[in-house]
Amino acid sequence: MARTVIEKVDCDACLKKGEEVDAVMKLIIGPDEYDLCERHGEKFRALLAEALGTTTAITQSA
Ligand SMILES: [Zn+2]
Repeated sequence: MARTVIEKVDCDACLKKGEEVDAVMKLIIGPDEYDLCERHGEKFRALLAEALGTTTAITQSA
């Protein structure tokens, strides 16, 4: 009998607030790894783009 095991990963940022939200992307900076949901992922992408001075490539979202 075959059994499929699906690994569920929660968003680290949402977990800090006590919420369980499926993570859809991973952020790795040096030794640090973060699993993030769509909302937090986009937030971090925007922050990083701003830090790198490439804000024009990303449309600002709420
Ligand atoms: Zn999140």
